[in-house]
Amino acid sequence: APGGAVLVFHDVTRLRELEGLRQDFVANVSHELRTPLSLVKSAAETLLDGGKDDPAALTRFLEIIDKNANRLTLLIDDLLLLAQLDSGRVELHLEPVVLRAAVQDALDDFAAKAGARGVTLEHEVPAGLVARADVNRLQQVLANLVDNAIKYGAANGRVAVRGRALADGRVEMSVRDDGPGISPEAAARVFERFYRVDKARSRELGGTGLGLAIVKNVVQAHGGEVRVESTPGAGAEFFFTLPAAGS
Ligand code: ADP
Repeated sequence: APGGAVLVFHDVTRLRELEGLRQDFVANVSHELRTPLSLVKSAAETLLDGGKDDPAALTRFLEIIDKNANRLTLLIDDLLLLAQLDSGRVELHLEPVVLRAAVQDALDDFAAKAGARGVTLEHEVPAGLVARADVNRLQQVLANLVDNAIKYGAANGRVAVRGRALADGRVEMSVRDDGPGISPEAAARVFERFYRVDKARSRELGGTGLGLAIVKNVVQAHGGEVRVESTPGAGAEFFFTLPAAGS
Protein backbone atom coordinates (compact mmCIF):
# COMPACT_ATOMS: atom_id res chain seq x y z
CA ALA A 1 0.00 0.00 0.00
CA PRO A 2 1.20 3.58 -0.67
CA GLY A 3 0.83 4.41 3.02
CA GLY A 4 3.21 1.58 3.89
CA ALA A 5 5.80 2.82 1.43
CA VAL A 6 5.73 6.30 2.96
CA LEU A 7 6.23 4.84 6.40
CA VAL A 8 9.25 2.81 5.34
CA PHE A 9 10.82 5.82 3.64
CA HIS A 10 10.36 7.85 6.82
CA ASP A 11 11.99 5.17 8.95
CA VAL A 12 15.01 5.02 6.69
CA THR A 13 15.46 8.79 6.86
CA ARG A 14 15.43 8.70 10.64
CA LEU A 15 17.84 5.77 10.67
CA ARG A 16 20.22 7.66 8.39
CA GLU A 17 20.01 10.64 10.70
CA LEU A 18 20.86 8.51 13.70
CA GLU A 19 23.67 6.82 11.84
CA GLY A 20 25.06 10.25 10.92
CA LEU A 21 24.94 11.36 14.54
CA ARG A 22 26.66 8.18 15.63
CA GLN A 23 29.43 8.66 13.05
CA ASP A 24 29.95 12.27 14.14
CA PHE A 25 30.14 11.13 17.74
CA VAL A 26 32.70 8.41 17.00
CA ALA A 27 34.79 10.87 14.98
CA ASN A 28 34.63 13.39 17.84
CA VAL A 29 35.56 10.82 20.46
CA SER A 30 38.50 9.61 18.40
CA HIS A 31 39.75 13.13 17.93
CA GLU A 32 39.34 13.98 21.62
CA LEU A 33 41.24 10.85 22.64
CA ARG A 34 43.99 11.35 20.10
CA THR A 35 44.94 14.84 21.26
CA PRO A 36 46.05 13.94 24.82
CA LEU A 37 47.35 10.58 23.65
CA SER A 38 49.69 12.15 21.10
CA LEU A 39 51.00 14.52 23.79
CA VAL A 40 51.74 11.54 26.07
CA LYS A 41 53.43 9.73 23.19
CA SER A 42 55.67 12.61 22.15
CA ALA A 43 56.66 13.38 25.76
CA ALA A 44 57.63 9.73 26.26
CA GLU A 45 59.61 9.76 23.00
CA THR A 46 61.44 12.92 23.99
CA LEU A 47 62.40 11.35 27.33
CA LEU A 48 63.61 8.17 25.65
CA ASP A 49 65.60 10.21 23.14
CA GLY A 50 67.78 11.54 25.96
CA GLY A 51 65.48 14.05 27.62
CA LYS A 52 65.52 11.89 30.75
CA ASP A 53 69.16 12.80 31.38
CA ASP A 54 68.26 16.46 31.91
CA PRO A 55 66.54 16.80 35.31
CA ALA A 56 64.53 19.89 34.33
CA ALA A 57 63.30 18.26 31.11
CA LEU A 58 62.55 15.06 32.97
CA THR A 59 60.17 16.83 35.35
CA ARG A 60 58.56 18.88 32.59
CA PHE A 61 57.81 15.91 30.35
CA LEU A 62 56.61 13.73 33.23
CA GLU A 63 54.20 16.53 34.11
CA ILE A 64 52.91 16.55 30.53
CA ILE A 65 52.38 12.80 30.70
CA ASP A 66 50.63 13.05 34.06
CA LYS A 67 48.36 15.92 32.98
CA ASN A 68 47.29 14.22 29.78
CA ALA A 69 46.76 10.85 31.42
CA ASN A 70 44.41 12.67 33.81
CA ARG A 71 42.60 14.26 30.86
CA LEU A 72 42.13 10.84 29.27
CA THR A 73 40.71 9.48 32.52
CA LEU A 74 38.22 12.34 32.82
CA LEU A 75 37.17 11.92 29.22
CA ILE A 76 36.63 8.19 29.56
CA ASP A 77 34.69 8.63 32.82
CA ASP A 78 32.41 11.18 31.13
CA LEU A 79 31.96 8.97 28.04
CA LEU A 80 31.06 5.95 30.14
CA LEU A 81 28.55 7.93 32.17
CA LEU A 82 26.93 9.32 29.00
CA ALA A 83 26.75 5.84 27.47
CA GLN A 84 25.04 4.57 30.62
CA LEU A 85 22.61 7.48 30.64
CA ASP A 86 21.83 6.89 26.94
CA SER A 87 21.05 3.25 27.41
CA GLY A 88 18.90 3.94 30.46
CA ARG A 89 21.23 1.77 32.53
CA VAL A 90 21.77 4.42 35.17
CA GLU A 91 19.79 3.53 38.22
CA LEU A 92 18.65 6.59 40.12
CA HIS A 93 18.35 6.28 43.87
CA LEU A 94 15.56 8.76 44.33
CA GLU A 95 15.03 10.19 47.77
CA PRO A 96 14.08 13.55 49.30
CA VAL A 97 17.11 15.83 48.99
CA VAL A 98 17.38 19.02 51.01
CA LEU A 99 18.72 21.32 48.33
CA ARG A 100 20.34 23.87 50.59
CA ALA A 101 22.56 21.13 52.04
CA ALA A 102 23.34 19.59 48.64
CA VAL A 103 24.34 22.98 47.25
CA GLN A 104 26.49 23.70 50.30
CA ASP A 105 28.39 20.44 49.70
CA ALA A 106 28.96 21.35 46.06
CA LEU A 107 30.13 24.87 46.93
CA ASP A 108 32.50 23.56 49.61
CA ASP A 109 34.18 21.40 46.98
CA PHE A 110 34.82 24.47 44.82
CA ALA A 111 35.90 26.93 47.51
CA ALA A 112 39.59 26.59 46.64
CA LYS A 113 39.09 26.81 42.89
CA ALA A 114 36.85 29.87 43.26
CA GLY A 115 39.32 31.47 45.64
CA ALA A 116 42.16 30.99 43.17
CA ARG A 117 40.19 33.00 40.59
CA GLY A 118 38.99 35.57 43.11
CA VAL A 119 35.40 34.42 42.59
CA THR A 120 32.84 34.82 45.38
CA LEU A 121 30.39 31.93 45.72
CA GLU A 122 26.91 32.99 46.83
CA HIS A 123 24.45 30.50 48.24
CA GLU A 124 20.87 31.71 47.82
CA VAL A 125 18.92 28.45 48.12
CA PRO A 126 16.22 28.80 50.78
CA ALA A 127 15.98 26.28 53.60
CA GLY A 128 13.00 23.99 53.25
CA LEU A 129 13.35 23.43 49.51
CA VAL A 130 13.31 19.66 48.93
CA ALA A 131 13.50 17.76 45.64
CA ARG A 132 13.12 14.10 44.77
CA ALA A 133 16.51 13.23 43.33
CA ASP A 134 19.53 10.99 43.34
CA VAL A 135 21.84 12.98 45.57
CA ASN A 136 25.07 11.79 43.93
CA ARG A 137 23.85 12.57 40.42
CA LEU A 138 22.56 15.92 41.61
CA GLN A 139 26.01 16.68 43.02
CA GLN A 140 27.43 15.96 39.59
CA VAL A 141 25.01 18.39 37.94
CA LEU A 142 25.78 21.12 40.47
CA ALA A 143 29.52 20.47 40.22
CA ASN A 144 29.54 20.78 36.42
CA LEU A 145 27.54 24.02 36.48
CA VAL A 146 29.50 25.62 39.32
CA ASP A 147 32.80 24.56 37.74
CA ASN A 148 31.78 26.15 34.42
CA ALA A 149 30.57 29.33 36.13
CA ILE A 150 33.94 29.68 37.87
CA LYS A 151 35.96 28.80 34.74
CA TYR A 152 34.03 30.80 32.14
CA GLY A 153 32.67 33.54 34.40
CA ALA A 154 34.56 36.71 35.26
CA ALA A 155 37.76 36.59 37.28
CA ASN A 156 37.01 38.25 40.65
CA GLY A 157 33.33 37.86 39.78
CA ARG A 158 30.37 36.34 41.58
CA VAL A 159 28.71 32.96 41.13
CA ALA A 160 25.28 32.53 42.68
CA VAL A 161 23.30 29.32 43.14
CA ARG A 162 19.58 29.89 43.53
CA GLY A 163 16.52 27.72 43.97
CA ARG A 164 12.77 28.15 44.19
CA ALA A 165 9.58 26.15 44.18
CA LEU A 166 7.55 26.55 40.97
CA ALA A 167 3.79 26.99 41.05
CA ASP A 168 3.28 23.44 39.70
CA GLY A 169 5.24 22.00 42.61
CA ARG A 170 8.51 21.36 40.77
CA VAL A 171 11.73 22.89 41.96
CA GLU A 172 13.88 25.13 39.80
CA MET A 173 17.57 25.56 40.52
CA SER A 174 20.02 27.87 38.79
CA VAL A 175 23.69 28.76 38.66
CA ARG A 176 24.50 32.29 37.54
CA ASP A 177 27.77 34.01 36.73
CA ASP A 178 28.70 37.53 35.65
CA GLY A 179 31.17 36.59 32.91
CA PRO A 180 31.00 37.24 29.15
CA GLY A 181 27.92 35.03 28.78
CA ILE A 182 26.89 33.08 25.69
CA SER A 183 25.62 34.28 22.31
CA PRO A 184 22.13 33.12 21.26
CA GLU A 185 23.64 30.81 18.56
CA ALA A 186 25.98 29.17 21.07
CA ALA A 187 23.26 29.00 23.72
CA ALA A 188 21.22 26.83 21.36
CA ARG A 189 24.08 24.34 21.19
CA VAL A 190 25.95 24.28 24.53
CA PHE A 191 24.16 21.15 25.75
CA GLU A 192 25.41 19.16 22.71
CA ARG A 193 28.24 16.69 23.18
CA PHE A 194 31.65 18.21 22.44
CA TYR A 195 30.23 21.60 21.54
CA ARG A 196 32.43 24.40 22.88
CA VAL A 197 32.40 28.08 22.13
CA ASP A 198 36.20 28.19 22.29
CA LYS A 199 37.81 24.77 21.94
CA ALA A 200 41.35 25.80 22.82
CA ARG A 201 40.27 27.68 25.94
CA SER A 202 38.00 24.86 27.11
CA ARG A 203 40.82 22.31 26.78
CA GLU A 204 43.27 24.62 28.50
CA LEU A 205 40.82 24.85 31.42
CA GLY A 206 40.63 21.05 31.57
CA GLY A 207 37.20 20.63 29.97
CA THR A 208 36.06 17.53 28.13
CA GLY A 209 33.22 19.26 26.27
CA LEU A 210 30.80 16.76 27.83
CA GLY A 211 29.91 18.50 31.09
CA LEU A 212 26.68 20.14 29.95
CA ALA A 213 25.61 17.06 27.95
CA ILE A 214 25.89 15.11 31.22
CA VAL A 215 23.95 17.82 33.06
CA LYS A 216 21.16 17.61 30.49
CA ASN A 217 21.01 13.80 30.50
CA VAL A 218 21.03 13.50 34.29
CA VAL A 219 18.32 16.15 34.67
CA GLN A 220 16.19 14.50 31.99
CA ALA A 221 16.62 11.12 33.67
CA HIS A 222 14.98 12.78 36.69
CA GLY A 223 12.14 14.02 34.48
CA GLY A 224 13.44 17.59 34.59
CA GLU A 225 14.50 20.16 31.99
CA VAL A 226 17.55 22.35 31.40
CA ARG A 227 17.92 25.75 29.77
CA VAL A 228 20.33 28.67 29.70
CA GLU A 229 19.62 32.39 29.70
CA SER A 230 22.31 34.87 28.82
CA THR A 231 22.72 38.50 27.98
CA PRO A 232 26.08 38.52 26.19
CA GLY A 233 28.49 40.63 28.18
CA ALA A 234 26.42 40.34 31.34
CA GLY A 235 26.82 36.68 32.31
CA ALA A 236 24.95 33.43 31.94
CA GLU A 237 22.43 31.61 34.11
CA PHE A 238 21.88 27.85 33.75
CA PHE A 239 18.54 26.51 35.02
CA PHE A 240 17.29 23.01 35.71
CA THR A 241 14.11 21.63 37.19
CA LEU A 242 13.56 18.63 39.43
CA PRO A 243 10.42 16.96 40.70
CA ALA A 244 9.36 18.09 44.16
CA ALA A 245 9.89 15.72 47.08
CA GLY A 246 6.26 14.70 47.37
CA SER A 247 5.93 13.62 43.72
P1 ADP B 1 33.66 22.05 28.79
O1 ADP B 1 34.33 20.81 29.23
O2 ADP B 1 34.22 22.62 27.53
O3 ADP B 1 33.52 23.05 29.89
P2 ADP B 1 30.75 21.88 28.87
O4 ADP B 1 29.83 20.91 28.20
O5 ADP B 1 30.69 21.96 30.36
O6 ADP B 1 32.19 21.53 28.36
O7 ADP B 1 30.46 23.33 28.29
C1 ADP B 1 30.38 23.50 26.87
C2 ADP B 1 30.79 24.89 26.47
O8 ADP B 1 29.81 25.85 26.91
C3 ADP B 1 32.08 25.38 27.11
O9 ADP B 1 33.21 24.95 26.36
C4 ADP B 1 31.92 26.89 27.06
O10 ADP B 1 32.31 27.36 25.78
C5 ADP B 1 30.42 27.09 27.21
N1 ADP B 1 30.03 27.45 28.59
C6 ADP B 1 29.66 26.60 29.57
N2 ADP B 1 29.35 27.27 30.70
C7 ADP B 1 29.54 28.59 30.43
C8 ADP B 1 29.37 29.80 31.19
N3 ADP B 1 28.96 29.78 32.48
N4 ADP B 1 29.66 30.99 30.56
C9 ADP B 1 30.07 31.00 29.27
N5 ADP B 1 30.24 29.90 28.50
C10 ADP B 1 29.97 28.70 29.07
